[in-house]
Amino acid sequence: MKLSFKGGIHPLRELHEGKGKTHSQPIRDFVPERVCIPVDMHIGTPSAPCVKKGDLVKLGQVIATPVGGIGIPVHASVSGEVISVGPRQMLGKTASTCIEIANDGKDEWVELSPLGSVDSAPADKIVQQVKDAGICGMGGACFPSHIKMMIPEGKSVDTIILNGAECETFLTADHRLMLEEPQRIVDGLRLIMRAMKVSTGIIAIEDNKKDAIKVMQEAISGLEGIRVAVLKTKYPQGGEKQLIDAVTKRQVPSGALPIDAQVVVFNVGTAAAIADAVIHGKPLISRVTTVTGCVNTPSNLRVRIGTSFQDAIEAAGGFSEDPGKIFAGGSMTGLCIPGTEVSLTKANNGIVVLNQKDAVKKQPTPCIRCGRCVEACPSRLNPQFLNALNDLSDLAGMKKHNVMDCTVCGSCSYVCPAKIELCATFKEAKEKITARRV
Ligand code: SF4
Ligand code: SF4
Repeated sequence: MKLSFKGGIHPLRELHEGKGKTHSQPIRDFVPERVCIPVDMHIGTPSAPCVKKGDLVKLGQVIATPVGGIGIPVHASVSGEVISVGPRQMLGKTASTCIEIANDGKDEWVELSPLGSVDSAPADKIVQQVKDAGICGMGGACFPSHIKMMIPEGKSVDTIILNGAECETFLTADHRLMLEEPQRIVDGLRLIMRAMKVSTGIIAIEDNKKDAIKVMQEAISGLEGIRVAVLKTKYPQGGEKQLIDAVTKRQVPSGALPIDAQVVVFNVGTAAAIADAVIHGKPLISRVTTVTGCVNTPSNLRVRIGTSFQDAIEAAGGFSEDPGKIFAGGSMTGLCIPGTEVSLTKANNGIVVLNQKDAVKKQPTPCIRCGRCVEACPSRLNPQFLNALNDLSDLAGMKKHNVMDCTVCGSCSYVCPAKIELCATFKEAKEKITARRV
């Protein structure tokens, strides 16, 4: 049976034309001559640089140390010379402190400290190893993974879900990772389960990736407590709450977290990074990202963290048309980048280039009260009503009607025949409510 959730959309054009450009493209390594690594790639206080201009660093060396309770370190993604430490415009509204390193081409690793195999690594040391490796959610969430692995007092977890849905338009990085490197993913899942003392692990994959389903089923063959769940292809099937609903039939209540449904979700790429950290002692220095849209050679690249968008686009053959808009991520939840000098971070699963024609925004017209946005909302909100409250600048009313549960998935905007920018409106309202403590 194909599992699913209530609401959602079928962005068919993007699924067929978007993913089709790269789903058969094997992962290709790309190493740039220079990286520019932000120290604020995770949710929480930015890390503190511990290197300066002129220092020589090895691959995997700590270049910024954790700050605050949920902080994680940042590591050099190439070996070479630090050429600058300072502010640069990245994806955020304010500049990020970045560490720029000129690659010496040697890929000389710092001394690594593996913990052991999947079965021999001491379970009580796995969480610290994950923290030391600087791992955060690679599906886009950027939440430090070691925090997710620590079960708070009074809570319990009985299921780990690995998110291999990859419902975002255009992206195929997780699809290729499951096809080509399934053992890393399964090892990572088993290590998470051991560290958290959880006996059920589920790898959830949409049914438009039949080859990946088969490969992952083979990879878990004979392993007790682990199974593959086949999901209906629907956007946003990979949203945490939608995934938990589809796979376990449990609802995460308004304002609550997945752990309140006794579930913790990790991206498949995050699980693979956890396996590297524990089994090989390797910190997070690279990731697979899809570079597609209007580029000459749409690709799945394994890029070093801190590679510029410009270098990654050139590695994919350069622009095939004049770009109109470039997204970090897919076209539904991705952010428009301010310029191609911004860097790929731990959470960047894709670069999507739209041509000028596709990038043109349609002018919104008045709401016709068709209700399509209500039907599409996977968070069971009423976007039409929330938008009316926003027009009245009624932030308190929006909060009362659960705008904070909006996952900014964009489904409402996608289906709206009046082309009202519902999703962007709710994103802004959430930021204002948080900043003003409404
Ligand atoms: S963007 Fe928010 S309001 Fe719109 S469909 Fe997604 S969750 Fe619902
Ligand atoms: S989809 Fe657009 S036009 Fe239809 S009710 Fe929602 S906001 Fe109004």
